[in-house]
Amino acid sequence: MATRQPIPITHAERVIDAASGVTKGELVDYYERVAPSMLPHLKARPVALVRAPEGVGGELFFQKHAAAAAMDGIDLLDPALDPGHEPLLVVSAPRGLRSAAQMNVVEFHTWNMTTRTIPRADRMVFDLDPGEGVAWPEVREAATLVHAFLGELKLQSWVKTSGGKGLHVVVPLAPRHDWQAVRQVARAVVVRMAAVVPQRFVAKSGPRNRVGRIFIDYLRNGWGSTTAAAWSARARPGLGVSVPIDWSELAQVESGAHWTVRNVEPRLRPGQTAWDGFTASRQTLTRAMKALDFEPTETT
Ligand code: ATP
Ligand code: MN
Repeated sequence: MATRQPIPITHAERVIDAASGVTKGELVDYYERVAPSMLPHLKARPVALVRAPEGVGGELFFQKHAAAAAMDGIDLLDPALDPGHEPLLVVSAPRGLRSAAQMNVVEFHTWNMTTRTIPRADRMVFDLDPGEGVAWPEVREAATLVHAFLGELKLQSWVKTSGGKGLHVVVPLAPRHDWQAVRQVARAVVVRMAAVVPQRFVAKSGPRNRVGRIFIDYLRNGWGSTTAAAWSARARPGLGVSVPIDWSELAQVESGAHWTVRNVEPRLRPGQTAWDGFTASRQTLTRAMKALDFEPTETT
C-alpha cells in the first residue's frame, strides 16, 4: 500500500466550542480514533456535512452536494442517483473524516439508502425529540415503548443517542421496499403510538403540539432526508456525540448528549459491539404492514 502524507491540519489550536474549550485539533483527533467504528456507518451512504467555520456558536452550513468536494477521502457519487442535483457525497476512506474536519466539518449526516439500494431504503429511522417540559426519563421510556411496539411488529430496532437533545431509534431493513413505503410505514407506526399513548406521544410536528409530549419524527424517512450518523460529533455547545448503545444501557444514559468529544474515549471500544447484529439484520416490513393494516397509497 502506498503511504500517504497525513492531511495537514491548520489552526489546530483554535477553540471551536467555547462551552467545552475543545479545539479543532481535538476534534480531528476524535475523528481519527473513531474512524474504524464510524466508517461502517458511512459506507456507500450519501452523506451531508455540517460545517462550522466560526465554531459551534457561529453560522452552520449544511452541505449535501459537490460544493463541499475536493476533500481527500470524500468521493462524488454518480449524478444519476439524485437527478437534477450536483453529485452527492460519500465518505469513502477514514482520511475523509480528517480532511472534512480540516474543512471545519463537525457533523456527518447520512441517508437511509445506500448507492446499492437507492431508491429502496435499508433502514427506517424514528427521531425522538422531547417537547418543552418533557423530562429525560420520559424520553428514555418513550424509546423503550417504540422498541416494544416495533418488537410487536416483529421488527428489531437499535438505539443511539443523538448527541443533542434526544434519541434515534433505527430499524435496519433488507432493501426491499422503496423509501416511500418505508416512510408510510414509519408514519403508520407513529400514528398508532400516538393513538395508543396520547398522553406521551404526538404524531404532529410543531412546538405547540409537543408541549409535555414527545414528537416521534418519521419524516426522517423521506427522499434525501438525513440523520446524524452514529459517532458523529454535534455542532452544539459541549460537542455531544451520537453513540450507538445497547437497549439494556439506556437506563444509565442521562441525556442525548451523555457522551461528548471529551468524555467518549472509554466508550469507543465497547461501543463497537452495541450494534452487533444491526448490519446483519435482513428483516422486511411485510409482517409489520399486515399488522398495521397498511395499504400503500399514491406517493409524491
Ligand atoms: P436532537 O436530538 O437535538 O433533536 P437531531 O440530530 O435529532 O438532534 P437536528 O440536529 O435538529 O436533530 O437535525 C434535524 C434534521 O434535519 C436532521 O435529520 C438533519 O440531518 C437535518 N438537517 C439539519 N440541518 C439541515 C439543513 N440545513 N437542511 C436540511 N436538513 C437539515
Ligand atoms: Mn431529534
